[in-house]
Amino acid sequence: MDITSAKTAPYWWDAVDASRTRDPIGGDADVDVAIIGAGFTGLWCAYHLARLDPALRIVVIEKDHVGFGASGRNGGWCHAEYPLGHEQLVQDCGHDAAMAHMRALFASVDEIGMIAAEEGIDCEYVKGGVLTVARSDLQMTYAHEEVESARSFGLTDDDIRLLDGDEARDALNATGVIGAVWHAHGAAIHPAKLVHGLASVVEAQGVTIYEGTEVTGVSRSVVRTDGGDVRAPMIVVAMEGYRSNLPGEKRRVIPLYSLMVATEPLPDDVWGEIGLSARQTFGDFRNLIIYGQRTGDGRLAFGGRGAPYHWGSAIEPGFDIDDDVHRELTAVLTELFPQIAGYEITHRWGGPLGVSRDWRPSVTVDHGKGIAWAGGYVGDGVNTAHLAGQTLAELITRTDTERTALPWVNHRWPTWEPEPLRWIGINAGLALAKAADRTEQRTGKHSRKADLGLWFRGRSRRRR
Ligand SMILES: Cc1cc2nc3c(=O)[nH]c(=O)nc-3n(C[C@H](O)[C@H](O)[C@H](O)COP(=O)(O)OP(=O)(O)OC[C@H]3O[C@@H](n4cnc5c(N)ncnc54)[C@H](O)[C@@H]3O)c2cc1C
Repeated sequence: MDITSAKTAPYWWDAVDASRTRDPIGGDADVDVAIIGAGFTGLWCAYHLARLDPALRIVVIEKDHVGFGASGRNGGWCHAEYPLGHEQLVQDCGHDAAMAHMRALFASVDEIGMIAAEEGIDCEYVKGGVLTVARSDLQMTYAHEEVESARSFGLTDDDIRLLDGDEARDALNATGVIGAVWHAHGAAIHPAKLVHGLASVVEAQGVTIYEGTEVTGVSRSVVRTDGGDVRAPMIVVAMEGYRSNLPGEKRRVIPLYSLMVATEPLPDDVWGEIGLSARQTFGDFRNLIIYGQRTGDGRLAFGGRGAPYHWGSAIEPGFDIDDDVHRELTAVLTELFPQIAGYEITHRWGGPLGVSRDWRPSVTVDHGKGIAWAGGYVGDGVNTAHLAGQTLAELITRTDTERTALPWVNHRWPTWEPEPLRWIGINAGLALAKAADRTEQRTGKHSRKADLGLWFRGRSRRRR
Protein backbone atom coordinates (compact mmCIF):
# COMPACT_ATOMS: atom_id res chain seq x y z
CA MET A 1 0.00 0.00 0.00
CA ASP A 2 1.40 3.34 -1.06
CA ILE A 3 1.40 6.09 1.56
CA THR A 4 2.88 8.88 -0.54
CA SER A 5 -0.39 10.03 -2.09
CA ALA A 6 -2.24 10.03 1.26
CA LYS A 7 -3.52 13.34 2.57
CA THR A 8 -1.25 14.50 5.42
CA ALA A 9 -4.01 15.57 7.83
CA PRO A 10 -6.24 13.70 10.28
CA TYR A 11 -8.95 11.74 8.48
CA TRP A 12 -11.38 12.98 11.16
CA TRP A 13 -10.94 16.59 10.05
CA ASP A 14 -12.70 15.89 6.71
CA ALA A 15 -16.00 15.79 8.63
CA VAL A 16 -15.64 19.09 10.53
CA ASP A 17 -14.55 22.65 9.84
CA ALA A 18 -10.97 22.27 11.06
CA SER A 19 -10.04 25.92 10.74
CA ARG A 20 -10.22 29.02 12.91
CA THR A 21 -13.90 29.93 12.77
CA ARG A 22 -13.97 31.87 16.05
CA ASP A 23 -12.51 35.29 16.81
CA PRO A 24 -9.25 35.69 18.68
CA ILE A 25 -9.30 37.64 21.91
CA GLY A 26 -9.56 41.37 21.18
CA GLY A 27 -7.91 42.84 24.32
CA ASP A 28 -7.88 42.38 28.08
CA ALA A 29 -10.68 40.54 29.84
CA ASP A 30 -11.93 39.75 33.38
CA VAL A 31 -13.62 36.38 33.94
CA ASP A 32 -14.22 33.82 36.71
CA VAL A 33 -12.47 30.87 35.05
CA ALA A 34 -9.94 30.99 32.19
CA ILE A 35 -9.26 27.64 30.53
CA ILE A 36 -6.22 27.18 28.28
CA GLY A 37 -6.72 24.65 25.46
CA ALA A 38 -9.86 23.71 23.49
CA GLY A 39 -9.49 19.94 23.60
CA PHE A 40 -11.49 17.40 25.59
CA THR A 41 -10.07 18.40 29.00
CA GLY A 42 -10.76 22.11 28.58
CA LEU A 43 -14.17 21.73 26.96
CA TRP A 44 -15.44 19.04 29.34
CA CYS A 45 -14.30 21.22 32.23
CA ALA A 46 -16.18 24.19 30.74
CA TYR A 47 -19.26 22.04 30.09
CA HIS A 48 -19.50 20.73 33.66
CA LEU A 49 -18.61 24.12 35.18
CA ALA A 50 -21.44 25.77 33.24
CA ARG A 51 -23.85 23.06 34.39
CA LEU A 52 -22.81 23.35 38.02
CA ASP A 53 -22.86 27.15 38.10
CA PRO A 54 -24.48 28.80 35.06
CA ALA A 55 -23.55 32.25 36.41
CA LEU A 56 -19.80 31.67 36.01
CA ARG A 57 -18.04 33.74 33.33
CA ILE A 58 -15.86 31.16 31.54
CA VAL A 59 -13.48 31.56 28.62
CA VAL A 60 -11.53 28.93 26.71
CA ILE A 61 -8.34 30.22 25.05
CA GLU A 62 -7.02 28.19 22.12
CA LYS A 63 -3.86 28.85 20.15
CA ASP A 64 -5.11 27.27 16.96
CA HIS A 65 -8.66 25.94 16.58
CA VAL A 66 -11.01 23.70 18.53
CA GLY A 67 -9.76 20.11 18.35
CA PHE A 68 -6.40 21.11 16.89
CA GLY A 69 -4.57 19.01 19.51
CA ALA A 70 -4.74 15.33 20.36
CA SER A 71 -8.50 15.52 20.94
CA GLY A 72 -9.09 16.01 17.22
CA ARG A 73 -6.45 13.54 16.06
CA ASN A 74 -6.71 10.40 18.20
CA GLY A 75 -7.74 6.81 17.52
CA GLY A 76 -11.25 7.34 18.88
CA TRP A 77 -10.88 4.72 21.60
CA CYS A 78 -13.15 6.00 24.33
CA HIS A 79 -12.06 3.42 26.86
CA ALA A 80 -11.57 3.00 30.59
CA GLU A 81 -7.91 2.27 31.06
CA TYR A 82 -5.54 3.53 33.72
CA PRO A 83 -2.14 3.98 32.01
CA LEU A 84 -0.23 1.75 34.44
CA GLY A 85 -3.04 -0.74 34.99
CA HIS A 86 -5.16 -1.40 38.04
CA GLU A 87 -2.42 -3.43 39.79
CA GLN A 88 -0.22 -0.36 40.02
CA LEU A 89 -3.17 1.71 41.20
CA VAL A 90 -3.77 -0.81 44.01
CA GLN A 91 -0.10 -0.58 44.99
CA ASP A 92 -0.28 3.20 44.95
CA CYS A 93 -3.49 3.78 46.90
CA GLY A 94 -5.03 0.51 48.08
CA HIS A 95 -7.77 -1.71 46.71
CA ASP A 96 -10.87 0.35 47.51
CA ALA A 97 -9.56 3.62 46.12
CA ALA A 98 -8.27 1.82 43.02
CA MET A 99 -11.66 0.19 42.48
CA ALA A 100 -13.42 3.55 42.92
CA HIS A 101 -11.11 5.04 40.30
CA MET A 102 -11.70 2.23 37.82
CA ARG A 103 -15.50 2.36 38.36
CA ALA A 104 -15.41 6.13 37.75
CA LEU A 105 -13.58 5.52 34.46
CA PHE A 106 -16.14 2.86 33.49
CA ALA A 107 -19.04 5.21 34.29
CA SER A 108 -17.43 8.02 32.31
CA VAL A 109 -17.51 5.95 29.10
CA ASP A 110 -21.31 5.66 29.47
CA GLU A 111 -21.70 9.31 30.45
CA ILE A 112 -19.95 10.48 27.28
CA GLY A 113 -22.46 8.46 25.24
CA MET A 114 -25.38 9.80 27.26
CA ILE A 115 -24.28 13.44 27.09
CA ALA A 116 -23.60 13.18 23.35
CA ALA A 117 -27.11 11.79 22.85
CA GLU A 118 -28.75 14.39 25.14
CA GLU A 119 -26.89 17.30 23.55
CA GLY A 120 -27.39 16.08 19.99
CA ILE A 121 -23.69 15.50 19.26
CA ASP A 122 -23.47 12.86 16.52
CA CYS A 123 -20.00 11.51 17.25
CA GLU A 124 -20.65 7.98 15.96
CA TYR A 125 -20.46 6.62 19.52
CA VAL A 126 -20.85 2.83 19.58
CA LYS A 127 -20.05 0.89 22.75
CA GLY A 128 -18.67 -2.36 21.37
CA GLY A 129 -15.85 -2.78 23.88
CA VAL A 130 -12.13 -3.17 23.30
CA LEU A 131 -10.48 -6.29 21.90
CA THR A 132 -6.86 -7.07 22.70
CA VAL A 133 -5.99 -10.04 20.52
CA ALA A 134 -3.32 -12.65 21.23
CA ARG A 135 -1.35 -13.79 18.17
CA SER A 136 1.16 -16.14 19.81
CA ASP A 137 1.30 -18.49 22.79
CA LEU A 138 3.27 -15.86 24.68
CA GLN A 139 0.60 -13.22 24.00
CA MET A 140 -2.02 -15.76 25.12
CA THR A 141 -0.13 -16.05 28.42
CA TYR A 142 -0.38 -12.26 28.76
CA ALA A 143 -4.11 -12.49 28.01
CA HIS A 144 -4.62 -15.10 30.77
CA GLU A 145 -2.55 -13.02 33.20
CA GLU A 146 -4.58 -9.92 32.46
CA VAL A 147 -7.92 -11.61 33.07
CA GLU A 148 -6.70 -13.41 36.22
CA SER A 149 -5.39 -10.16 37.61
CA ALA A 150 -8.71 -8.43 36.83
CA ARG A 151 -10.59 -11.24 38.60
CA SER A 152 -8.46 -11.03 41.72
CA PHE A 153 -8.99 -7.27 41.69
CA GLY A 154 -12.78 -7.84 41.72
CA LEU A 155 -13.81 -7.30 38.11
CA THR A 156 -16.29 -9.73 36.59
CA ASP A 157 -17.28 -11.15 33.21
CA ASP A 158 -19.36 -8.02 32.72
CA ASP A 159 -16.13 -5.99 32.78
CA ILE A 160 -13.54 -8.19 31.09
CA ARG A 161 -13.55 -11.62 29.51
CA LEU A 162 -11.13 -14.07 27.93
CA LEU A 163 -12.16 -15.17 24.40
CA ASP A 164 -11.00 -18.50 22.97
CA GLY A 165 -9.67 -18.74 19.41
CA ASP A 166 -13.04 -19.15 17.70
CA GLU A 167 -14.72 -16.36 19.67
CA ALA A 168 -11.77 -14.05 19.10
CA ARG A 169 -11.59 -14.72 15.34
CA ASP A 170 -15.36 -14.24 15.11
CA ALA A 171 -14.88 -10.80 16.61
CA LEU A 172 -11.69 -9.91 14.74
CA ASN A 173 -10.27 -12.15 12.06
CA ALA A 174 -6.73 -10.81 11.96
CA THR A 175 -3.92 -13.18 11.00
CA GLY A 176 -2.64 -15.53 13.68
CA VAL A 177 -5.33 -14.75 16.28
CA ILE A 178 -5.57 -17.56 18.86
CA GLY A 179 -7.52 -15.74 21.58
CA ALA A 180 -8.31 -12.32 22.97
CA VAL A 181 -9.30 -10.28 25.97
CA TRP A 182 -12.54 -8.34 25.60
CA HIS A 183 -12.96 -5.25 27.76
CA ALA A 184 -16.57 -4.16 28.02
CA HIS A 185 -15.95 -0.53 28.95
CA GLY A 186 -15.00 0.96 25.62
CA ALA A 187 -16.70 2.78 22.78
CA ALA A 188 -15.56 3.80 19.31
CA ILE A 189 -16.11 7.48 18.59
CA HIS A 190 -15.36 10.03 15.88
CA PRO A 191 -13.12 12.31 17.99
CA ALA A 192 -13.30 15.44 15.85
CA LYS A 193 -17.10 15.30 15.73
CA LEU A 194 -17.16 14.97 19.53
CA VAL A 195 -14.76 17.83 20.23
CA HIS A 196 -16.41 20.19 17.73
CA GLY A 197 -19.91 19.23 18.90
CA LEU A 198 -18.88 19.85 22.48
CA ALA A 199 -17.49 23.27 21.58
CA SER A 200 -20.86 24.31 20.11
CA VAL A 201 -22.66 22.99 23.19
CA VAL A 202 -20.48 24.96 25.64
CA GLU A 203 -20.95 28.10 23.55
CA ALA A 204 -24.71 27.60 23.81
CA GLN A 205 -24.18 27.40 27.59
CA GLY A 206 -22.60 30.88 27.48
CA VAL A 207 -18.90 29.98 27.41
CA THR A 208 -16.67 32.09 25.11
CA ILE A 209 -14.03 30.29 23.03
CA TYR A 210 -11.19 32.35 21.57
CA GLU A 211 -9.31 30.68 18.71
CA GLY A 212 -6.03 31.87 17.21
CA THR A 213 -5.00 33.17 20.64
CA GLU A 214 -1.66 31.99 21.98
CA VAL A 215 -1.05 31.91 25.70
CA THR A 216 2.47 33.16 26.30
CA GLY A 217 2.62 32.91 30.07
CA VAL A 218 0.64 32.27 33.22
CA SER A 219 1.10 34.05 36.53
CA ARG A 220 -1.08 34.44 39.59
CA SER A 221 -4.61 35.28 38.37
CA VAL A 222 -3.39 36.40 34.92
CA VAL A 223 -3.18 34.55 31.60
CA ARG A 224 -1.00 36.48 29.19
CA THR A 225 -1.88 36.03 25.53
CA ASP A 226 -0.70 37.53 22.26
CA GLY A 227 -3.98 39.49 22.14
CA GLY A 228 -4.38 40.72 25.72
CA ASP A 229 -4.33 39.70 29.38
CA VAL A 230 -7.11 37.62 30.90
CA ARG A 231 -7.56 38.12 34.64
CA ALA A 232 -9.26 35.22 36.42
CA PRO A 233 -9.25 33.96 40.03
CA MET A 234 -9.06 30.42 38.63
CA ILE A 235 -6.90 29.38 35.65
CA VAL A 236 -7.13 25.87 34.20
CA VAL A 237 -4.20 24.55 32.16
CA ALA A 238 -5.78 21.98 29.81
CA MET A 239 -2.93 21.60 27.32
CA GLU A 240 -1.82 17.98 27.96
CA GLY A 241 1.00 17.17 25.50
CA TYR A 242 1.31 20.87 24.58
CA ARG A 243 2.03 22.03 28.09
CA SER A 244 5.73 22.25 27.26
CA ASN A 245 4.74 25.26 25.09
CA LEU A 246 4.50 27.33 28.28
CA PRO A 247 7.63 28.94 29.72
CA GLY A 248 9.30 26.77 32.37
CA GLU A 249 7.11 23.71 31.70
CA LYS A 250 9.35 21.53 29.54
CA ARG A 251 9.93 18.91 32.24
CA ARG A 252 6.44 18.54 33.69
CA VAL A 253 4.57 16.61 30.94
CA ILE A 254 6.48 15.59 27.83
CA PRO A 255 4.95 15.40 24.36
CA LEU A 256 5.21 11.88 22.93
CA TYR A 257 4.09 11.46 19.34
CA SER A 258 1.61 8.84 18.20
CA LEU A 259 0.97 8.41 14.47
CA MET A 260 -1.97 7.10 12.47
CA VAL A 261 -3.13 6.05 9.01
CA ALA A 262 -6.63 5.53 7.58
CA THR A 263 -7.72 3.44 4.62
CA GLU A 264 -10.38 4.25 2.10
CA PRO A 265 -13.85 2.82 2.99
CA LEU A 266 -13.66 -0.97 2.67
CA PRO A 267 -16.48 -2.91 0.99
CA ASP A 268 -18.91 -5.06 2.97
CA ASP A 269 -17.39 -8.35 1.80
CA VAL A 270 -14.00 -7.30 3.23
CA TRP A 271 -15.66 -6.35 6.50
CA GLY A 272 -17.42 -9.74 6.38
CA GLU A 273 -13.96 -11.31 6.47
CA ILE A 274 -12.43 -8.97 9.06
CA GLY A 275 -15.30 -8.70 11.54
CA LEU A 276 -15.54 -5.87 14.09
CA SER A 277 -19.29 -5.97 13.53
CA ALA A 278 -19.87 -4.26 16.89
CA ARG A 279 -17.21 -1.65 16.02
CA GLN A 280 -14.98 -2.92 18.82
CA THR A 281 -11.73 -1.01 19.00
CA PHE A 282 -8.71 -3.31 18.80
CA GLY A 283 -5.04 -3.81 19.57
CA ASP A 284 -2.80 -6.71 20.54
CA PHE A 285 -0.31 -7.65 23.25
CA ARG A 286 2.87 -6.34 21.62
CA ASN A 287 5.07 -3.96 23.58
CA LEU A 288 5.01 -1.05 21.12
CA ILE A 289 1.34 -0.13 21.27
CA ILE A 290 -0.94 -0.40 18.24
CA TYR A 291 -4.61 0.63 18.17
CA GLY A 292 -7.36 0.56 15.58
CA GLN A 293 -11.03 1.10 14.94
CA ARG A 294 -13.60 0.44 12.21
CA THR A 295 -14.84 3.93 11.49
CA GLY A 296 -18.47 4.87 11.03
CA ASP A 297 -17.96 5.02 7.25
CA GLY A 298 -16.19 1.65 7.07
CA ARG A 299 -12.48 2.53 7.05
CA LEU A 300 -9.72 1.12 9.18
CA ALA A 301 -8.18 3.91 11.25
CA PHE A 302 -4.98 2.53 12.72
CA GLY A 303 -2.17 3.95 14.80
CA GLY A 304 0.80 3.20 16.97
CA ARG A 305 3.74 4.50 18.88
CA GLY A 306 7.25 4.36 17.50
CA ALA A 307 7.82 7.97 16.48
CA PRO A 308 10.84 9.40 18.31
CA TYR A 309 10.69 11.75 21.25
CA HIS A 310 12.04 15.11 20.04
CA TRP A 311 14.84 16.90 21.86
CA GLY A 312 13.81 19.51 24.43
CA SER A 313 10.12 18.42 24.49
CA ALA A 314 9.76 20.09 21.08
CA ILE A 315 6.46 20.16 19.18
CA GLU A 316 6.47 21.01 15.49
CA PRO A 317 3.96 20.47 12.69
CA GLY A 318 6.64 18.52 10.76
CA PHE A 319 6.71 15.85 13.49
CA ASP A 320 3.14 14.80 12.60
CA ILE A 321 4.45 13.11 9.47
CA ASP A 322 7.15 10.45 9.59
CA ASP A 323 7.48 8.37 6.41
CA ASP A 324 9.25 5.49 8.16
CA VAL A 325 6.71 5.19 10.98
CA HIS A 326 3.74 5.56 8.61
CA ARG A 327 5.23 2.84 6.37
CA GLU A 328 5.76 0.56 9.39
CA LEU A 329 2.18 1.13 10.55
CA THR A 330 0.90 0.32 7.07
CA ALA A 331 3.02 -2.83 6.99
CA VAL A 332 1.63 -3.95 10.37
CA LEU A 333 -1.91 -3.24 9.15
CA THR A 334 -1.51 -5.36 6.01
CA GLU A 335 0.18 -8.11 8.01
CA LEU A 336 -2.88 -8.18 10.27
CA PHE A 337 -5.33 -7.91 7.35
CA PRO A 338 -3.76 -9.13 4.06
CA GLN A 339 -7.16 -8.72 2.34
CA ILE A 340 -6.82 -4.92 2.41
CA ALA A 341 -3.51 -4.82 0.52
CA GLY A 342 -5.17 -3.56 -2.68
CA TYR A 343 -6.92 -0.65 -0.98
CA GLU A 344 -5.64 2.90 -0.54
CA ILE A 345 -4.24 4.62 2.50
CA THR A 346 -6.06 7.92 2.14
CA HIS A 347 -4.82 9.82 5.21
CA ARG A 348 -1.82 9.83 7.52
CA TRP A 349 -1.14 12.09 10.46
CA GLY A 350 0.08 12.26 14.05
CA GLY A 351 0.26 14.39 17.13
CA PRO A 352 1.60 14.70 20.66
CA LEU A 353 0.06 13.16 23.76
CA GLY A 354 1.14 13.96 27.31
CA VAL A 355 3.31 11.74 29.51
CA SER A 356 4.21 12.65 33.09
CA ARG A 357 7.45 11.37 34.64
CA ASP A 358 5.68 8.75 36.75
CA TRP A 359 3.13 7.84 34.03
CA ARG A 360 0.28 8.74 36.36
CA PRO A 361 -2.46 11.12 35.22
CA SER A 362 -3.44 13.90 37.59
CA VAL A 363 -6.30 16.31 38.30
CA THR A 364 -5.02 19.16 40.43
CA VAL A 365 -6.74 22.25 41.80
CA ASP A 366 -4.90 24.72 44.03
CA HIS A 367 -7.47 27.18 45.33
CA GLY A 368 -4.81 29.15 47.17
CA LYS A 369 -2.87 29.91 44.00
CA GLY A 370 -5.92 29.96 41.72
CA ILE A 371 -4.45 27.38 39.35
CA ALA A 372 -5.69 23.98 38.16
CA TRP A 373 -4.64 21.42 35.59
CA ALA A 374 -5.25 17.90 34.36
CA GLY A 375 -3.39 15.64 31.98
CA GLY A 376 -0.67 13.02 31.72
CA TYR A 377 -3.13 10.51 30.30
CA VAL A 378 -0.35 8.65 28.39
CA GLY A 379 -2.48 7.93 25.33
CA ASP A 380 -5.60 6.97 27.28
CA GLY A 381 -7.06 10.47 27.29
CA VAL A 382 -10.31 10.34 25.33
CA ASN A 383 -12.42 9.04 28.19
CA THR A 384 -10.05 10.09 30.98
CA ALA A 385 -10.21 13.73 29.87
CA HIS A 386 -13.97 13.66 30.43
CA LEU A 387 -13.56 12.32 33.97
CA ALA A 388 -10.78 14.87 34.51
CA GLY A 389 -12.80 17.80 33.16
CA GLN A 390 -15.81 16.87 35.27
CA THR A 391 -13.67 16.45 38.39
CA LEU A 392 -11.92 19.78 37.77
CA ALA A 393 -15.31 21.48 37.56
CA GLU A 394 -16.47 19.87 40.80
CA LEU A 395 -13.26 20.76 42.62
CA ILE A 396 -13.32 24.34 41.34
CA THR A 397 -16.93 24.84 42.48
CA ARG A 398 -16.20 22.96 45.73
CA THR A 399 -18.86 20.39 44.92
CA ASP A 400 -18.02 17.20 46.81
CA THR A 401 -18.72 14.01 44.86
CA GLU A 402 -17.29 10.50 44.74
CA ARG A 403 -14.99 11.80 41.96
CA THR A 404 -13.40 14.57 44.03
CA ALA A 405 -12.07 11.93 46.44
CA LEU A 406 -10.38 9.79 43.76
CA PRO A 407 -6.69 9.03 44.27
CA TRP A 408 -5.44 11.02 41.26
CA VAL A 409 -6.80 14.27 42.71
CA ASN A 410 -3.91 16.59 43.55
CA HIS A 411 -1.34 13.94 42.60
CA ARG A 412 1.91 15.89 42.09
CA TRP A 413 4.23 14.77 39.32
CA PRO A 414 7.97 14.47 39.67
CA THR A 415 9.76 16.36 36.89
CA TRP A 416 11.43 14.68 33.91
CA GLU A 417 15.22 14.59 33.76
CA PRO A 418 17.00 17.47 32.01
CA GLU A 419 18.37 16.92 28.50
CA PRO A 420 20.22 14.96 27.24
CA LEU A 421 19.07 12.31 29.77
CA ARG A 422 15.42 12.74 28.83
CA TRP A 423 16.07 12.31 25.12
CA ILE A 424 18.38 9.33 25.62
CA GLY A 425 16.11 7.58 28.12
CA ILE A 426 12.83 7.94 26.26
CA ASN A 427 14.21 7.04 22.85
CA ALA A 428 16.13 4.10 24.32
CA GLY A 429 12.87 2.95 25.94
CA LEU A 430 11.07 3.12 22.59
CA ALA A 431 13.90 1.25 20.81
CA LEU A 432 13.91 -1.46 23.49
CA ALA A 433 10.14 -1.94 23.22
CA LYS A 434 10.54 -2.42 19.46
CA ALA A 435 13.47 -4.82 19.94
CA ALA A 436 11.51 -6.76 22.58
CA ASP A 437 8.69 -7.32 20.08
CA ARG A 438 11.13 -8.72 17.54
CA THR A 439 12.70 -11.01 20.17
CA GLU A 440 9.34 -12.18 21.51
CA GLN A 441 8.15 -12.94 17.98
CA ARG A 442 11.33 -14.90 17.20
CA THR A 443 11.72 -16.82 20.47
CA GLY A 444 8.15 -17.00 21.75
CA LYS A 445 9.48 -16.01 25.17
CA HIS A 446 9.04 -12.88 27.25
CA SER A 447 11.89 -10.47 26.51
CA ARG A 448 13.71 -8.71 29.36
CA LYS A 449 14.24 -5.83 26.93
CA ALA A 450 10.56 -4.98 27.37
CA ASP A 451 11.08 -4.51 31.12
CA LEU A 452 14.40 -2.69 30.74
CA GLY A 453 12.85 -0.29 28.26
CA LEU A 454 10.28 0.74 30.79
CA TRP A 455 12.66 2.02 33.45
CA PHE A 456 11.27 5.45 32.87
CA ARG A 457 7.74 4.39 33.78
CA GLY A 458 8.43 3.69 37.43
CA ARG A 459 7.05 0.19 36.90
CA SER A 460 8.62 -3.10 35.91
CA ARG A 461 5.94 -5.05 34.01
CA ARG A 462 4.59 -4.12 30.59
CA ARG A 463 1.09 -2.81 29.98
CA ARG A 464 -0.64 -1.41 26.90
C1 LIG B 1 -2.43 10.19 17.32
C2 LIG B 1 -3.04 10.06 18.69
C3 LIG B 1 -3.87 8.98 18.95
C4 LIG B 1 -4.46 8.85 20.22
N1 LIG B 1 -5.37 7.86 20.40
C5 LIG B 1 -6.06 7.80 21.57
C6 LIG B 1 -7.13 6.88 21.71
O1 LIG B 1 -7.52 6.19 20.76
N2 LIG B 1 -7.75 6.81 22.92
C7 LIG B 1 -7.37 7.60 23.97
O2 LIG B 1 -7.94 7.46 25.05
N3 LIG B 1 -6.40 8.54 23.83
C8 LIG B 1 -5.77 8.68 22.65
N4 LIG B 1 -4.83 9.65 22.48
C9 LIG B 1 -4.61 10.62 23.57
C10 LIG B 1 -5.76 11.62 23.69
O3 LIG B 1 -6.15 12.06 22.41
C11 LIG B 1 -5.32 12.82 24.55
O4 LIG B 1 -4.85 12.34 25.79
C12 LIG B 1 -6.46 13.78 24.82
O5 LIG B 1 -7.14 14.13 23.64
C13 LIG B 1 -5.91 15.04 25.50
O6 LIG B 1 -6.90 16.03 25.52
P1 LIG B 1 -6.56 17.46 26.07
O7 LIG B 1 -7.75 18.30 25.88
O8 LIG B 1 -6.01 17.34 27.45
O9 LIG B 1 -5.34 17.97 25.16
P2 LIG B 1 -5.37 18.40 23.62
O10 LIG B 1 -6.51 17.83 22.88
O11 LIG B 1 -4.00 18.11 23.09
O12 LIG B 1 -5.63 19.97 23.68
C14 LIG B 1 -4.65 20.91 24.06
C15 LIG B 1 -4.93 22.19 23.29
O13 LIG B 1 -4.05 23.22 23.75
C16 LIG B 1 -3.77 24.05 22.63
N5 LIG B 1 -2.58 24.85 22.90
C17 LIG B 1 -1.28 24.48 22.79
N6 LIG B 1 -0.46 25.48 23.09
C18 LIG B 1 -1.25 26.54 23.42
C19 LIG B 1 -1.00 27.88 23.83
N7 LIG B 1 0.24 28.33 24.01
N8 LIG B 1 -2.05 28.71 24.06
C20 LIG B 1 -3.34 28.25 23.91
N9 LIG B 1 -3.63 26.99 23.52
C21 LIG B 1 -2.60 26.14 23.30
C22 LIG B 1 -3.59 23.06 21.50
O14 LIG B 1 -3.73 23.69 20.23
C23 LIG B 1 -4.68 22.05 21.79
O15 LIG B 1 -5.87 22.30 21.08
C24 LIG B 1 -4.19 9.81 21.24
C25 LIG B 1 -3.35 10.89 20.98
C26 LIG B 1 -2.79 11.02 19.71
C27 LIG B 1 -1.91 12.21 19.44
